[in-house]
Amino acid sequence: MIRTKEARTQILRSLTLLLLLSLAGTAALADGETAPARDPKQPVDDAYTAKIKKYTTQPFFTSPLVDYLPASKNVPTPEAVLGDVAGAPGILPYAEDVYKYMRLLEKASPRVKVFSIGKTEEGREMIAVAVSSPENLKNLEENRAKLAKLADPRTIKLDDQEADRLVAQAVPVYYITGTIHSPETGAPTALMELAYRLAVDESPYIREIRDGMITLITPVVEVDGRDRMVDIYHWHLSHPKDFYPPLIYWGKYVAHDNNRDAMGVTLKLTENVLNTYVGQKAQVLHDLHESVPYLYDNTAGDGPFNAWVDPILTDEWEMIGWRNVSDMTKFGMPGVFTHGVFDTWSPGYLMFIAAMHNGISRLYETFGNGGADTLPRTLDADEYSRTWYRQNPPLPTVLWSQRDNNNYEETGLLTSLHYFNENKRLFLKNFYLKAKRSVTKPGAEGPAAYVLPADDPRASSQAELLRVLQKQAVEISRATSAFTVTLPAKKPAKGKKDKDAKDTKEKDAPPAPTTREFPAGSYIVRMDQPYSRIADALLDYQYWSPDDPQKTPYDDTGWTFGELFRVQVTRVTDPKVLDVAMERVKEIHAPSGVSAEGTIYAINNNAEPTLATLRYKLRDASIEAAEEPFESAGKKFTRGTFLLKNVSRAQLNDALSDLGLQATPISAMPSVKTHPVRAARIAFVHTWLSTQTEGWWRLALDNLGVPYDYISTQVVSKTPDLNAKYDVILFPPVGFAANPTAIINGLPSAWGNPLPWKNTPETPNLVGKNDSTDDMRPGLGWEGVANLQSFIAKGGVLLTATDTSRFALSIGLADGVSVGNAQKMKIVGSVVGTRLVDAASPIAYGYDEKLSAYCDNGPIFSLSSVSGARGFRRLGKESQTRPTGRGTADDTDFTVGRPATEAPEEPKSEIWENPLLTDEQLRNNFRVIPPANRARVIFRYADSKDLLISGLVEGGDEIAQRAAVVDVPTGNGHVVLFSINPVYRGETRGTYSLVLNTILNFDNLNAGRKLAEK
Ligand SMILES: [Zn+2]
Repeated sequence: MIRTKEARTQILRSLTLLLLLSLAGTAALADGETAPARDPKQPVDDAYTAKIKKYTTQPFFTSPLVDYLPASKNVPTPEAVLGDVAGAPGILPYAEDVYKYMRLLEKASPRVKVFSIGKTEEGREMIAVAVSSPENLKNLEENRAKLAKLADPRTIKLDDQEADRLVAQAVPVYYITGTIHSPETGAPTALMELAYRLAVDESPYIREIRDGMITLITPVVEVDGRDRMVDIYHWHLSHPKDFYPPLIYWGKYVAHDNNRDAMGVTLKLTENVLNTYVGQKAQVLHDLHESVPYLYDNTAGDGPFNAWVDPILTDEWEMIGWRNVSDMTKFGMPGVFTHGVFDTWSPGYLMFIAAMHNGISRLYETFGNGGADTLPRTLDADEYSRTWYRQNPPLPTVLWSQRDNNNYEETGLLTSLHYFNENKRLFLKNFYLKAKRSVTKPGAEGPAAYVLPADDPRASSQAELLRVLQKQAVEISRATSAFTVTLPAKKPAKGKKDKDAKDTKEKDAPPAPTTREFPAGSYIVRMDQPYSRIADALLDYQYWSPDDPQKTPYDDTGWTFGELFRVQVTRVTDPKVLDVAMERVKEIHAPSGVSAEGTIYAINNNAEPTLATLRYKLRDASIEAAEEPFESAGKKFTRGTFLLKNVSRAQLNDALSDLGLQATPISAMPSVKTHPVRAARIAFVHTWLSTQTEGWWRLALDNLGVPYDYISTQVVSKTPDLNAKYDVILFPPVGFAANPTAIINGLPSAWGNPLPWKNTPETPNLVGKNDSTDDMRPGLGWEGVANLQSFIAKGGVLLTATDTSRFALSIGLADGVSVGNAQKMKIVGSVVGTRLVDAASPIAYGYDEKLSAYCDNGPIFSLSSVSGARGFRRLGKESQTRPTGRGTADDTDFTVGRPATEAPEEPKSEIWENPLLTDEQLRNNFRVIPPANRARVIFRYADSKDLLISGLVEGGDEIAQRAAVVDVPTGNGHVVLFSINPVYRGETRGTYSLVLNTILNFDNLNAGRKLAEK
């Protein structure tokens, strides 16, 4: 027996050997997959290969896929443009050079095709490079038509068998995007070399990828930022001993947040990548980042996952991610892992375009040095520790090069591409199934549709919201006649129900469903369409439980677009809505224009941001605001209504085109009080600490056509008479909870060298149309503080939000408001409820009682009627009981031997109000702020139970009911303080007008003010 067994083993061994030998030509592994190995018949570019080896700092920081470069007679290597190999020290190509190389490849190889996919805000080109077999590239359109059918299963009537036929024939598209984050510099060279390998390498492993799929590459996503980063790097190389300036601007508007725009699609880079992804019917969008050692597949995390993604996708994340880790571990490469601390809740990331459009989103973090220097790097313990998801962690300390980074990026991508190709029928079928499940959504999880009523008074914002959906490739329809739907019964709030049940012993009948009629022309967003998922994710509500095991949300937790745009959106589960007579809408046009000839025109104020556009467009027209509501010719007009004179109907009609505003001629000025609405001269102030958060404000103002001077705190410090130039100073949030000292002191300047941010021969791209300085380090300084103080005293208006509000209050630019520290409060980028307090304030024009706003742990304001006093009251209930004594709680106490005296009641005020003063407090108290100088609260946060609209609100009691928007008259001017952030990521159109109203009514902010008696 034993002998026989041995013999059998021997036979098996030789058989295996034979098998291996016979398959050596295609290098198949026992698992049937092709092994990563060179084609021995193809020559290697020895010089290039030698340099790869030289620049790789450890033999295990590479793989058999990238430790050589195949030679080609006619196709140039990246060296042709770089002058060295990809990832060489000291070399960072501009986007233009990267494109030049890609176009050289296109010229030299029938396996490469370059497409222009649009321009950036600063006019730079974005490209996508397709690499595949010549046959696949020739049949690109034909193949795309097949993929399009899988992407929209309605075209094949949801026929699974037809889908299978297409799945068997179609060639998938895997889309890779690099360098959205400008200081993460390695991807462009890695992708240049990757394109070369895919085009040239004849190894079976690479050939299979090339023949089996289309690899699509956008080597630089943030092109404006890339060119700035390369500038900075050049400056660094020519000033090796100096500190180099931090990259304060990336794109024209925002920095790191460019990867948080996939909901609002306000940036060109998002739009261009989205159009390419959706247009090419790609299956994967794989975005490259650099921050974590050495390769972290940052696609799936430990939750909570976004509720709207298909579970099929979350499984795909794990399949591809873990296989990727496994492949690279087997190459002996340390520090490759997936999972990690990412939560995957917000759909704002660029890669999430794929997750929300039935594809597969992926993201790599590799290890970068923020440039092309080779540097010793030391990790923190939590970076090199072994965890259940990182059994093969990075090393505590290494010498790291850009080449190492490129080796990891390319190896990760090649193994991913190969695995994807091996399993492409599965992934293509999944692509179809996810699309099919999007189409069948109304009958499955629902809803059936979202309806935006035709009679929403905010037509302009409604149109903007619909345009966002259209950018997301969502189909919009319009009802051709009125219709009625059944809305589900509203469930009573949980706590309430239990309490009621106890009290009434469940006597009440269960709440009944209601119906709602929508007028003809109402917009319907059908959920039986392939991209219903993104529409649903944007329009639905989000709930992040305070008990969720995830305690550190990665980004915003709530974003409900209808709430933040202040646009009516109804979620309809009644499937009958899909049978309503409707037609597809190609372009959204909000009704605009003048109804008839007149001399005075009235435009209702519904806090549409386009009112500001109109004011700046019609500079010569006289515009007044009505301080009270009024009626004219049987029509009701709101407070803040614009009354226009000195403008012809044609002029006005022209100016109103597409603003979503309608003007009505009225026969005479109304009898209510009015004041002029002027085109204020605006200074927009930024720091040299960070420009990210204010960038969203600039974007909003630019889109609205509201002009401003963009000046830094340094300019403020050098401008003693700010009033001569400006009426309003906007000081939007600095971001990262910048502290007041940092705003005043700037960056450390007691040592080190100046940090210039200006165009020089070495840095031709730095400034663009943004700001410049010889030295970024100085801040506002105390002169700047004095200048701001004088500006306000002389009648100027300073507007601040979140951290700049904290700044203004902590240095005493406004009195009567103080900022408290949160104890347990956690509001992480959520949508919260606010309530109108003072409707007569011009800041509130066009708003009604309830307003949803974006809050991120907003500063907690407290009001005081006494200067310098901190207005903090006890959290929870104030003591309202009588002192200890005789009788019952409601009785009057006595003192033996004299008649009882009733204690006077303490004056009571609401938590958002200025506390009322007692006579005792008023007597000879020079600290008492005169009523006219006290803070005027325009909006407050809702009561605790109504605070959460979407996202996470924990410990909301601390901010509930407190002031959210306050106007503090100071000297002859005003400081307007926001605790919410009214202008954020293109998502908060509903609160823009709080800022715009302040601007337009800058010299009449006291209108309608009622003063306290004492
Ligand atoms: Zn990044």
